[in-house]
Amino acid sequence: EVKKNIELKTPLVKGPSQLPLSRSRLKRGPNQMEDALEPAKKRTRGVGAATKINMSRSRVPPLTTVPQTQSHTAVQKVPKKTAPRCSTAITAVLKNQKPVPAVPAQKPGPTAVPPIAGVKKPSKRPAWDLKGQLCDLNAELKRCREKTQTLDQENQQLREQLKEAQQQAKDLGTERSTLEGELARVRTQAEQGQQQLGNLSARVLELEERLGTQEGLVQVLQKEQLELQEERSGLTTRLEEQERRLQASEAALSSSQAKVASLQQETATQAALLAERGDRLHGLEMERRRLHNQLQELKGNIRVFCRVRPVLEGESTPSPGFLLFPPGPGGPTDPPTRLSLARSDDRRATLSGAPAPTTRHHFSFDRVFPPGSRQDEVFEEISMLVQSALDGYPVCIFAYGQTGSGKTFTMEGGPGGDPQLEGLIPRALRHLFSVAQELNGQGWTYSFVASYVEIYNETVRDLLATGTRKGPGGECEIRRAGPGSEELTITNARYVPVSCEKEVETLLHLASQNRAVARTAQNERSSRSHSVFQLQISGEHAARGLQCIAPLNLVDLAGSERLDPGLALGPGERDRLRETQAINSSLSTLGLVIMALSNKESYVPYRNSKLTYLLQNSLGGSAKMLMFVNISPLEENVSESLNSLRFASKVNQCVIGTAQANKK
Ligand code: ADP
Ligand code: MG
Repeated sequence: EVKKNIELKTPLVKGPSQLPLSRSRLKRGPNQMEDALEPAKKRTRGVGAATKINMSRSRVPPLTTVPQTQSHTAVQKVPKKTAPRCSTAITAVLKNQKPVPAVPAQKPGPTAVPPIAGVKKPSKRPAWDLKGQLCDLNAELKRCREKTQTLDQENQQLREQLKEAQQQAKDLGTERSTLEGELARVRTQAEQGQQQLGNLSARVLELEERLGTQEGLVQVLQKEQLELQEERSGLTTRLEEQERRLQASEAALSSSQAKVASLQQETATQAALLAERGDRLHGLEMERRRLHNQLQELKGNIRVFCRVRPVLEGESTPSPGFLLFPPGPGGPTDPPTRLSLARSDDRRATLSGAPAPTTRHHFSFDRVFPPGSRQDEVFEEISMLVQSALDGYPVCIFAYGQTGSGKTFTMEGGPGGDPQLEGLIPRALRHLFSVAQELNGQGWTYSFVASYVEIYNETVRDLLATGTRKGPGGECEIRRAGPGSEELTITNARYVPVSCEKEVETLLHLASQNRAVARTAQNERSSRSHSVFQLQISGEHAARGLQCIAPLNLVDLAGSERLDPGLALGPGERDRLRETQAINSSLSTLGLVIMALSNKESYVPYRNSKLTYLLQNSLGGSAKMLMFVNISPLEENVSESLNSLRFASKVNQCVIGTAQANKK
């Protein structure tokens, strides 16, 4: 056993040459043993702290100090206590799979094995007791072997545990990589989720925005809907109202239709009646015309009216009884037809010395107009003749008398455009227009064409001339309208269609302007010339194919005064004489023509004067003639007045044969 110990001792001492053990230590046996165990301690150190603790504890008791007997028991006790403790610690480690903290091992609690130092060490053997020492060493060796065996077992256990732990670590690593993969996948998923979340939030925002817009829209639409509903209800009400009205209208319409039907029937009856009445009316109209003409004929185709103008301002009032207007045959209410004029014979008075004897001259005419007679009274008498002109009978109205007797006043009217002083021409035309309008209702259509000329010294001049025709080259000629035609026309003269009073007014105004120009040039020419206003009247009854054409002539004759034969004839007077002779000649020709017509002579001297030539179609035959003899109320004009009255009386005695209307 000693040998074994020595053998064992040698490797222990000599073995690990790398261990730097000091010489002093090597001298001491137990210390050497203790140091020799170091490598084993180092080998087991990696297993865990617990193992290390056990190892360090085992080093604690200094084997050298333990008495052999005691130490043997002590040594034997220690491993028994230590080994299970170590294995318990390792088992704990394995069970927990957690390294046991080193602290409890290093600082043992109250349960820990009491330090070896506390064990009663074997008493030191004397140096000579080698056997005892060997015995001790063998015991020590045995303990060590036991310990080594225990440690090997522990080591083995630990290796297994390590292996197990490594396997576990490997498994864990595998598990970890799996988990890492899982984690990466989850992360990717999370990122995708995040992204999706972001997208979804954006989408949500967008949708919220759209929702807001849509809500606004919905509100607007709701408002509109409300309005529309209101409007609709209003329209419905209106529609109902309209329907009610429509129904009422339909009812009214149907009743109206019934009425219309009955009215149409009535109208047809009326139309038939109207046609019948129209026929009757036309018959009556023709009858009226015939009777009217008969009446005019009874009154005489040639009529003479005498008109005495009033005394004007500044004129000497004639002596009473100078002019007398005896009442008509029917009494004072009758319009006068007679007048008597007193003329004193001055020559006889001078001879006898007695007061001059007065001679009364009595005249009777178709009508006498005393000085106070108004224009409308005068026109009333001649309106019948105007009607005759419309009925198709030529009409001639003359104003005869000395200058200043009121011819122009009678024909055209007084000065100043006073409507009450309007003369025969404007009144006659107004009457014509209104009667033509009335006859229009009976199917007659009338048209009027006016001309206005003056005949001075046997030359014809257009009073309606305008522009260049006014000048010296504007002389007119009376010509037949065509070869073999009865109708006469004045060349160079204007024939103006008229249809209303306004147009006639314009023409009369133009004529008076043209006369005024002539007056300044040729000393009161107007009174030395005949003014002839001619109106061509054309009526047509298209339905019955009737036509009537007749001229209405309104003639303001030149002054009828004669030239005093006793006057000395200077160069100016000679012209005057010639002028007067021309006038007198034409006036006497007029008288002669009337006379010839009255006496139904085969030759009527129309050609002897321009006036009679121009008026030939309006004198004699079917024509109606009216002569106004205008008289001055002044005593100084008595001679001329008598001349005029005598001329008119002659004309008045004429009866021109039965007039015939110019009917085609
Ligand atoms: P004549 O044309 O015959 O020369 P007028 O017609 O020029 O004469 O008349 C001469 C004057 O007498 C004019 O001033 C006119 O106004 C006036 N006179 C003529 N007749 C009447 C009358 N019936 N009433 C009032 N004044 C008249
Ligand atoms: Mg005149």
